[in-house]
Amino acid sequence: PTTDPTTTFADKQYRSPIICILGHVDTGKTSLLDKIRNTNVQGGEARGITQQIGASFIPVEAIKEQTKSFAEKIKMDFKLPGLLLIDTPGHESFNNLRSRGSGLCDLAILVIDIMHGLEAQTLESINLLRMRKTPFIVALNKVDRIYDWKPCVNTDFKEAYKVQSKSAAQEFDYKVKDTIAALAGQELNAELYWRNKDHRKYVSLVPTSAHTGEGISDLMLVVMQLMQKLMLDKVEFTNQLQCTLLEVKVIEGFGTTIDVVLVNGTLNEGDKIVVSGFNGPIETSIRSLLTPPPLRESRVKSTFINHKSIRAAMGIKIVAPGLEKAVPGTSLHVVGPNDDIEKIRAEAKREVDSVLNDVETS
Ligand code: GDP
Repeated sequence: PTTDPTTTFADKQYRSPIICILGHVDTGKTSLLDKIRNTNVQGGEARGITQQIGASFIPVEAIKEQTKSFAEKIKMDFKLPGLLLIDTPGHESFNNLRSRGSGLCDLAILVIDIMHGLEAQTLESINLLRMRKTPFIVALNKVDRIYDWKPCVNTDFKEAYKVQSKSAAQEFDYKVKDTIAALAGQELNAELYWRNKDHRKYVSLVPTSAHTGEGISDLMLVVMQLMQKLMLDKVEFTNQLQCTLLEVKVIEGFGTTIDVVLVNGTLNEGDKIVVSGFNGPIETSIRSLLTPPPLRESRVKSTFINHKSIRAAMGIKIVAPGLEKAVPGTSLHVVGPNDDIEKIRAEAKREVDSVLNDVETS
C-alpha cells in the first residue's frame, strides 16, 4: 500500500507545504511549535495531528477548526492537505542548508521577540532566507509580555487587541512601529498582516503569544492563505523527487539510518538511491521506510511502522546499508531505470562539496 497524504482539488494533486520556523535563540520557536500542536489537540480530539520523523503534520481539518472564527469574514477553500512543520528549529543541518537552495522550506516563519526586536540571529536568518529565496512571514511573539497586557487565551489577535487598556494597546503599536522601522533598515518592507495589501512586496507581521495563544489562529490562517494565493503551483504534487536529508542516526536494531523530508515525489521500499557522502557518493537501496506509529496506537510496542511506498510530503526514516558517511543537508536521489547514474553521482558530489565549503566559510 502507498501512504498518500496528498489532496485533490480541481483535478490537481497537492502536497503539504513544508514550513520552517527560525529566528534568534529564546524568541519562542520551540514554544510556538508546541502551542500550534497543543491548541490543535485541545477540545478532546487530536484531529489527526501526527508526529512524523523530524516534523509535525497539522492536517487541514485541524486548521479549519482553528481558523473557523475567520470563516465569516474570509471565504476560503482549503485545497491543501495540511502543513508539515519542521520540528527542530535550531537544526544544525537545517542551518547548513544554504547555498544549494534545495527548497526544503516552501515558507518560513521568522520569529521575533516583540520586546527585543531584531537580534543577531534574526539578521542571520533574514540573510539565509534571502539567499535561499524562501518566502517568509514574521511571528511577532511574546505579545503577552507587553506591560498590562490582558491575556486572552487562544484568541484571534484582533479580538485580543480590542480588550486591551489604552496604554497596553499603545505600547503594542510602538513596538510594531519599531520593528517595522528596524526591518526597513534591513531593506525589508513589513506590515501587520491585516494591513498588508501586497504580499509580494511586504512581509506580513503576525503578533502571537506562545504562552497565552493570542494570534496562533492568525498565524495558521496567514500561512495557509499565502500558500494558496501565491504559491499553489509550488506545492502541486509531482513525481519529480525532492528529498532532503536532515540527520544521520544510529538506531538499535536498524543500524545507521537517515531522517529525511520527502518534499515531493514518491519513495518505495527497494528503490535504488544515491546520497552524498563525506567520502563520495553512496549508492545503496532502501531497505525500509519508517514513520512513527499513530498516537492512538502507541500502546502497540513497535517504535516504527513500515511502508511499502510513501508520497510527499512526509518526514521519514530510511534504513539502508552503508549510510554511515551520509551528509546532512544534501539531497537524496532515486536512480530510475532510465537515469544516467554518472550524472547523479556528479550531482551528489557537487552537493557535498558545497556543504563542506559552507562549513568552512561559516
Ligand atoms: P527558542 O530558543 O526560540 O526555541 O525559544 P523557547 O521556545 O525555548 O522560549 C524561550 C523562553 O521564552 C522560554 O522560557 C519560554 O517559556 C519563553 N517564551 C516563549 N514564547 C513566549 C511567549 O509568547 N510569551 C512569554 N511570556 N514567554 C515566552
